[in-house]
Amino acid sequence: MSVKKHLSLPAQMGVGMLLGVAAGALVQHFDMATSWFQPFGQLFINLVRMVVVPLVIVSLVSGAASVGDVGRLGRMAGKTLVYYFLTTAVAIVIGLILGNLLHPGAGLDLAHDVAQNKASATPPSLVKVLMDIVPVNPMDALSKGNMLQIIFFAVMLGFSLSVCGEKGRPAVAIFDSLTEAMLRMTHMVMLYAPIGVFALMTVAVGNHGLGVLLPLIKLVGVMYLGCVIHVLVVYLPIIRWSGIRPGHFFRMLGAPLLIAFSSCSSAAALSSNMEGVQRLGASRTVASFSIPLGNTINMDGTAIYMGVVAIFAAELYGVPMPFDKQLAVLLMGILASVGTMGVPGAGLLMITMVLTQVGIPLEAVGIVAGIDRVLDMARTTINVLGDATGAICISKLEKDLDPERGARMAED
Ligand code: ASP
Repeated sequence: MSVKKHLSLPAQMGVGMLLGVAAGALVQHFDMATSWFQPFGQLFINLVRMVVVPLVIVSLVSGAASVGDVGRLGRMAGKTLVYYFLTTAVAIVIGLILGNLLHPGAGLDLAHDVAQNKASATPPSLVKVLMDIVPVNPMDALSKGNMLQIIFFAVMLGFSLSVCGEKGRPAVAIFDSLTEAMLRMTHMVMLYAPIGVFALMTVAVGNHGLGVLLPLIKLVGVMYLGCVIHVLVVYLPIIRWSGIRPGHFFRMLGAPLLIAFSSCSSAAALSSNMEGVQRLGASRTVASFSIPLGNTINMDGTAIYMGVVAIFAAELYGVPMPFDKQLAVLLMGILASVGTMGVPGAGLLMITMVLTQVGIPLEAVGIVAGIDRVLDMARTTINVLGDATGAICISKLEKDLDPERGARMAED
């Protein structure tokens, strides 16, 4: 007897998203979206965040232990950092160019619409950023979910286990088996994803209906255009160079991209993104190194946003933006995007670093806040896509990209 095939998970999530948009439009007028649907969406975010720290630590230890060659690990880290730095810089430049060409802030009258927002972030010094990578107490780093510190410790532990030789084997076997278990747990959690996506979309549309968007629609348009351009000029050439068909690439990453778009949290999409790039053929070692690291420091979507919003806000307040100020936006934007956490709205707070640097009133933050969710959807999606493209690029550079291994994994 033939049984009708179930919808694939990304398809179910797609349906969840569409239903969420419809439900959001419906409940928009009843002021009940948040209270009714928020818990279902929050439950999903909590579930995925629950698996992140254990998944990263066990898979990174087991990945680093299997490398067994410091030279290779160092090379991989170097290439990953250069890739992240360059793509982030290009992203901000795209944002700045589009802002200069399309003037998203021109013609907006904000005299009666200035929200007070005193939120501000002071840029950490470079030395502090570097020093903070080393956890004084690894357990503290684990409990706080400090991803950079966790990555640093996990790589050290994995590598130390591998140089232990015979004596390190039992512990490596435990980390290997825990990695399997965490991947299974991720699968189980993902079964709830369609409902989570539905609830999150309902809340987003319910709270930020089209009416709210209209006055700022141009800013949204410029931001989305920037994201599309970034995909076309940065990611697509890399995907083609890696030998993967773009259609296949995006199909395999459907789940993490949808999670990113609907939850506005790249941390929530982390585990699913790690699985997605392995299905495309990236090795577990590269995936478990590049994706969590990228999740913490590589935020291309947030970087585009920094460029576009800086110009937008300068135009709103008539602040001139000569070349040197735009250069300051570029440099501070890179630092600010590195410091942005993969949670909803983090970029909105971090942009105060950029605005302060070039003397733009922070009230601009209050204006952008009204539509930030819609901008966040785009930037989070690009943040996640940037990490995935990075993992594929590094895997290819390390000569261990194996689409057949990925296809076998996808069949399991
Ligand atoms: N929400 C974004 C993310 O999770 C960060 C941001 O707000 O820019 O990647």
